Amino acid sequence: MRKKIVAGNWKMNKDYSEGLSLFSEVLNMVKDEVRGEQLVVVCAPFIHLNSLSGLAKGSSQVFVGAQNAHQEASGAYTGEISAGMLSSIGVEYVILGHSERRQYFGETNELLAKKTDAALKNNLKPIFCIGETLEEREGGKHFDIIKSQLAEATFHLSAEDFSKLVIAYEPVWAIGTGVTASSDQAQEIHAFIRAEIASKYGKEIADDITILYGGSCNPKNAAELFAQHDIDGGLIGGASLKSRDFVDIVKTFNN
Ligand code: PEP
Repeated sequence: MRKKIVAGNWKMNKDYSEGLSLFSEVLNMVKDEVRGEQLVVVCAPFIHLNSLSGLAKGSSQVFVGAQNAHQEASGAYTGEISAGMLSSIGVEYVILGHSERRQYFGETNELLAKKTDAALKNNLKPIFCIGETLEEREGGKHFDIIKSQLAEATFHLSAEDFSKLVIAYEPVWAIGTGVTASSDQAQEIHAFIRAEIASKYGKEIADDITILYGGSCNPKNAAELFAQHDIDGGLIGGASLKSRDFVDIVKTFNN
């Protein structure tokens, strides 16, 4: 059965004590809200991960994720953190392919394929982000972009490895802008992504893959988005920085 996930992406926000408080509040507030196949993942800056994974240890529904990992196992890569290092402190997820990393750090599909391999080899589950820019959408290229991001970075995987991924559709024009894709626009792309996966890996794997929507998702619009057939939760940026907003989004699973 498909997992339903609400994942927070704190980006480069929260100092150490603010991060501990926010995560503790979220843990406390969601404990009676998530059950069964519903999960919460908090993707925090590296400095928080060891402490947060300690706090999350007792929970079977709340997990900790990183926002990046290097493709190599170790070596002279000053300032970088490997997937193995993350998994050694109990981190379970990692965001890969976020548009901010593609845009500001030049991450290509080719590099992301290597990062995906490194993450899976170290038992991290990638939350793999894909999405088109406004220019690409207006030029009618959004389906092609989604198709190539998915195929070039992930379709080299075995079916077994591919099924460990969480996919996040994040239209770049909706990230941090306050402009959300309509539920119809998001559903159309999610169904397309699932069909692409089905044609590569078969219907069973496609039906089981969790596909999240990301881009200005908030407590007001989450319910309508998550009610769509192919939307299995959200990747939440700005609204994950306030425990009340984030938990209100989590609660929409049961509304
Ligand atoms: C994100 O950065 O993954 C994101 C979805 O951000 P926001 O919710 O702020 O648009």
